[in-house]
Amino acid sequence: MRVDGSGKTGTGAGIVVSDAELDLIRDSVRALCAGFPGEYWRRHDRERSYPAEFVAALTAAGYLASLVPEEYGGSGLGLRVAATILEEIHRSGCNGAACHAQMYIMGTILRHGTELQKKCWLPAIAAGELRLQAFGVTEPGSGSDTLSIRTTATRRGDSYFISGQKIWTSRAEYSDLMLLLARTTPRESARKRTDGLSVFLVDMRDADASKLSIRPIRTMLNHSTTEVFLDGLEVPAANLIGDEGSGFRYILDGMNAERILIAAECVGDARWFIGKASDYARERTVFGRPIGQNQGIQFPIARAYVDAEAAALMVRRAADKFDQGKTCGEDANIAKLLASEASWQAADMCMQTFGGFAFAEDYDIERKFRETRLYRVAPVSSNLILCYVAEHVLGLPRSY
Ligand SMILES: Cc1cc2nc3c(=O)[nH]c(=O)nc-3n(C[C@H](O)[C@H](O)[C@H](O)COP(=O)(O)OP(=O)(O)OC[C@H]3O[C@@H](n4cnc5c(N)ncnc54)[C@H](O)[C@@H]3O)c2cc1C
Repeated sequence: MRVDGSGKTGTGAGIVVSDAELDLIRDSVRALCAGFPGEYWRRHDRERSYPAEFVAALTAAGYLASLVPEEYGGSGLGLRVAATILEEIHRSGCNGAACHAQMYIMGTILRHGTELQKKCWLPAIAAGELRLQAFGVTEPGSGSDTLSIRTTATRRGDSYFISGQKIWTSRAEYSDLMLLLARTTPRESARKRTDGLSVFLVDMRDADASKLSIRPIRTMLNHSTTEVFLDGLEVPAANLIGDEGSGFRYILDGMNAERILIAAECVGDARWFIGKASDYARERTVFGRPIGQNQGIQFPIARAYVDAEAAALMVRRAADKFDQGKTCGEDANIAKLLASEASWQAADMCMQTFGGFAFAEDYDIERKFRETRLYRVAPVSSNLILCYVAEHVLGLPRSY
């Protein structure tokens, strides 16, 4: 991906791009997405298959390397650009979930890895030769309570041996590498409750199948999500990212980027639903007039628009703060909450506007409705965001 040099300012955390340049990026993403119409997504949705051609096209265009700095082979354009790309993908009716994590998971290596690790992994990730789009955090027994994970990594010599189970590890079957969180110090022996977890880069390409196995989970949407079983999997100590025991902090750092980018996808979804509903409400005539002439139809569309615009502003603020290297936990969480709720309201509104036709696969609305619903739960549920705001922003007592 190329962006004209004018209007850029180096910030250290990503290159700032002017609004005019962002518009050009939107245009080119939209042009790419035009090659992947509803029928393409419906086919993959029906078969629960991976949209490999779409991912290949995004890779070839350089979009998935937008957050990798230029010195490691990416375009170093920052989160605002990455958010714009994902928003536009979703606004076009496509779905970035097959590969969005290829953009941001590498951020943990970038921010906390050694120079050797960065040189070893990032150029191949930027080129799309290596897929790092699996993120193994959630476990069946711990859920939102990440500090309770039970997967362990035990050091012997120059290796760690990892045992445990992850759940909802999306794209593991389509990823060469997985960023995995495991406990290296028993919870009761850790100095602080947030200590004792470590992050590893697990190379799944040559893993012994008896030590690493992946089981797909069929869900209500096409998301390539899986369960991962680890039974004494050997990982070189050289693949530990950062300091042993500090992994929880590293994961939290990465979660801000993830939340902002997924919020941008939700804004894209909301705009897609609003566009579809407005067009339909203008055209569909019942009782001798367009249904959009009824306030019962037009108000929900207008309300969805208002909510989406407010969420978009918050996403932009969060992304700008991230790119400026400012603290952005509050903004990232608020953006994620507002955007996921705006896209869900827009989805429901669109279903209602289309009436019975919304249920027909050919209109794509029921598919997008299923897809966007995920983001009120993952990667963090709305309640847990409210817990964060209550405790960390408003200073209320911790509720859990
Ligand atoms: C399709 C899909 C893909 C996913 N991909 C990944 C992935 O790639 N990697 C990964 O690590 N994880 C992934 N996840 C997991 C996702 O991050 C979790 O589902 C999510 O964080 C919620 O955890 P949980 O499902 O265990 O719900 P729980 O933690 O069991 O919570 C259930 C409900 O209770 C609420 N709740 C829990 N505790 C509290 C509290 N203290 N106060 C108020 N409400 C509370 C929650 O908000 C939620 O609504 C994915 C999930 C799905 C469904």
